[in-house]
Amino acid sequence: MPAVNDAIWMRKAIAVATSKGSSPASSPIGAIIVLGDRLIASERNQCDELCDATAHAEMMAIRKAGVVICNADLRGGTLYSTLQPCGMCTMATIWSKISRVVFGAGREDVHAMYFEARHIDTLAFVANAYRDDIEIEGGCLREACAALYYGPNDDVPRGQQGNL
Ligand SMILES: [Zn+2]
Repeated sequence: MPAVNDAIWMRKAIAVATSKGSSPASSPIGAIIVLGDRLIASERNQCDELCDATAHAEMMAIRKAGVVICNADLRGGTLYSTLQPCGMCTMATIWSKISRVVFGAGREDVHAMYFEARHIDTLAFVANAYRDDIEIEGGCLREACAALYYGPNDDVPRGQQGNL
């Protein structure tokens, strides 16, 4: 029953995301990687803490997972993210050879500040990747995940808009 397990794992990703608070201003984005039935990485967005624009939750989880299994090849693993991965994280997913990506809130559920391109959906990257064995599924616990972020019509202070 993957759908049931997906919800269980996504709840863990939400817990990681909100480990330092759940205000949208604190960028509560969480990602975990599961290999078989083993949780091998769980990371939160750490851009502010690390002064690193690449420290997105998914990037951090991919880095951690590789160290944990001593292998950069994460084939067979599933990445759960509370928010649809951005272009950088989508590409990192492809290069890490993760087999499956499950995300909660999708692009249409949140403010445009979470994505770098207006006209290119990162899901198209996966569809056009050389690998054809990567699955991507959105909408797992969609409402619970979307509640963590600024909504499509929220008036977000300019200083908090990551893509400006
Ligand atoms: Zn990202």
